[in-house]
Amino acid sequence: MLQGKKGLVVGIANDKSIAWGCARAFHRYGADLAVTWLNDKSEKYVRPLAEQCGASIISPLDVQDDRQIESLFDRIEAEWGKLDFLLHSIAFAPQNDLHGRVIDCSREGFLMAMDISCHSFQRLAKRAEPLMKDGGALLTVTYMGSERVVDHYGIMGPVKAALESATRYMAAELGSQNIQVHAISPGPLLTRTASGIAEFDTLMTQAQHRAPGRRLVTIDEIGDLAAFLASDRSRAITGDVIHIDGGYHIMG
Ligand code: NAP
Repeated sequence: MLQGKKGLVVGIANDKSIAWGCARAFHRYGADLAVTWLNDKSEKYVRPLAEQCGASIISPLDVQDDRQIESLFDRIEAEWGKLDFLLHSIAFAPQNDLHGRVIDCSREGFLMAMDISCHSFQRLAKRAEPLMKDGGALLTVTYMGSERVVDHYGIMGPVKAALESATRYMAAELGSQNIQVHAISPGPLLTRTASGIAEFDTLMTQAQHRAPGRRLVTIDEIGDLAAFLASDRSRAITGDVIHIDGGYHIMG
């Protein structure tokens, strides 16, 4: 399904990461990958995983550092000459702001959460666009806390709402170049980022009990969806928020 395609995966922290489930699926379906890690602390976890999925480009990337974005895309351009898809699977909010009320969120915390979790998708897309000469797919990862109030999700709710809106605008802007933009909205999974959300285990239990299938989603299932969205088979879909949560979001 992805034979001959080149894809960039941003957001692997460890083998629990949603981006890891996606990278594994991209690799299984035949894509050649570029994989990034955030900093020295994460390199030792990410590098072996990147090697496991045969990544031909392995590179540091802090999305707050414009020079790192430039040098990564320069390398992709030099080595591949093109990019077919990109997965943006990152989010961050300072703990103090994440754990407080939305009303109390500091300006600095809000701007940082928006910058890393939302605007970075636009920045990566801007650099990817000229490399997607034959079209392509831009994927991000969101959460249902954008659409309704989820206890303890706090400031990430408005941030994810902005990310979903950006997905629609970017899809409209890039559609004529055959570039599709998708926001995948998984149900809760215990990852490093998720462990920063208070009472996350309660959220998982609720999702498991209320979902029609009485189960949680796995990173491999998200990977299969991401591979489909990165492939030519999904070319008629764009700008959508695609839920993958065992149907939990349809429940009242
Ligand atoms: P994760 O494994 O902790 O992945 C998040 C990644 O973001 C980590 O690799 C983290 O790096 C990276 N990151 C943070 N700041 C960054 C920066 N400035 N530059 C580059 N990378 C940065 O958690 P995850 O759950 O898979 O999260 C992936 C995405 O899924 C997020 O957008 C999250 O909101 C979304 N999501 C998660 C769930 C869930 O229940 N887990 C549900 C729906 C949506 P370090 O770990 O090295 O700091």
